Amino acid sequence: MEYKEEDYLMLSGIQHYVFCRRQWALIHIEKQWEENVRTIEGQLIHQKAHDKFFSETRGNIIISRGMPVYSASLGTNGECDVVEFHRGTSGVTLHGKEGLFEVVPIEYKRGKEKENDADVLQLAAQVMCLEEMLCCSISKGYLYYNETRRRLEVLISEELRKKVKDMFLEMHQMYDRRYTPKVKRTKRCNACSLKDICIPVLCSNKSVSTYINDALLEDKVE
Ligand code: SF4
Repeated sequence: MEYKEEDYLMLSGIQHYVFCRRQWALIHIEKQWEENVRTIEGQLIHQKAHDKFFSETRGNIIISRGMPVYSASLGTNGECDVVEFHRGTSGVTLHGKEGLFEVVPIEYKRGKEKENDADVLQLAAQVMCLEEMLCCSISKGYLYYNETRRRLEVLISEELRKKVKDMFLEMHQMYDRRYTPKVKRTKRCNACSLKDICIPVLCSNKSVSTYINDALLEDKVE
């Protein structure tokens, strides 16, 4: 199946979807967005990755920054922070360049490696877009974390590809139904950029009287 361009979902949304289905729906269906320290830091790192050059050559490597990518079969589009083209004996041809180039995407991230696989899945989705656009196969990509300042190699397995496909299918189904899941309060809510919009305390099972009592108590403590 191929999606029409007007039905494409944002590729980076897969991170929100992995973090919390409700957060994804609030941002991508209801178009709500709250900036907190984490999202601003993340944007600055991405701007840095996209800065300076659109593309540059370093020896046998051509580096492209902010490259637009899409996949009609996943129904998504977005941007790759960095795509390196390594001259070698196999890979794709590039307009105006001699030889063949291996395609290597690199995604820049704030902080360090996460406990969930949000970053890995985003990178795998980028790989699947690049493969579809450039008619090639890509076996690996890298995640670069600003805190550890190192590249983490990610092998793009069949299992990972299936997870990405299943997730985009679910996201399209939710988007078509304009469905926003109910609150499931967990410890990740503390770091959520939408917690004030989502109002996890009010939407949880606390009764109104308990909520008001707690709020009064907090006022007294302050
Ligand atoms: S506050 Fe919690 S439930 Fe609400 S969107 Fe954020 S992570 Fe999801």
